[in-house]
Amino acid sequence: MIDTHAHIYASEFDNDRDQVVERALAQGISKILLPNIDLDSIEPMLTTEAAYPQICRSMMGLHPCYVDGNVEQTLTTIHSWFNKHSFIAVGEIGIDLYWDKTYKVEQEYAFVTQLNWAKEMQLPVVIHTRDSIEETLALLEKEQDGSLSGVFHCFGGSVEEAKAINQLGFHLGLGGVSTFKNGGMDKVIPQLDMNYVILETDCPYLAPVPHRGKRNEPAYTQLVAQRVADLRQMSLQQIDELTTRNAKTLFNL
Ligand SMILES: [Zn+2]
Repeated sequence: MIDTHAHIYASEFDNDRDQVVERALAQGISKILLPNIDLDSIEPMLTTEAAYPQICRSMMGLHPCYVDGNVEQTLTTIHSWFNKHSFIAVGEIGIDLYWDKTYKVEQEYAFVTQLNWAKEMQLPVVIHTRDSIEETLALLEKEQDGSLSGVFHCFGGSVEEAKAINQLGFHLGLGGVSTFKNGGMDKVIPQLDMNYVILETDCPYLAPVPHRGKRNEPAYTQLVAQRVADLRQMSLQQIDELTTRNAKTLFNL
């Protein structure tokens, strides 16, 4: 099983990162993919990757919540990292209009710029959206020339949104939200195209039931998989095989 979206380099894990990785391995999690956030997260992310080279793989990108008036300069620095290190994806990138709309134009600029890096480097992209699915899909549709692939991470939308995402050739990252009783995903997950589903935690955030509200960790990918298996009336092993296959193909693992 692969946790395709985990921030285990975050300071929340500084006291017990070894144990967190051990618990993940014990639950059958063989790979943990690390999305970058901003300039400050690069160093801890690469240090974590170096500490667990068989398990952790890093991405490089600028998260929309960290886009500001300095976007041009920040993107130049982020881009320079692709010449210094091997990354499995451009991420996480996207648009977030939930917290702050001040830099909407800059967010869109950063998103499109990074989509074009992905095309040039033939890397998948990991997309974060919040209150911005229409804006994100419109830009992606404009940029999709057949060479872009990736995932809408932390998917919690409707069946229609899932179809629109799949039609653009993109995957859906299912995480803790899938297990929330009031999340509505019990109606959506049975209707998803399983060829486009991958699993994630987005830890330390969004822990699945029964750990909701507490710190999340990669071992809990198992709980998300079990929830998907229950809703699809499939075995855990079938969900594991399908989603692992999808993740390996998408991220070239
Ligand atoms: Zn994230």
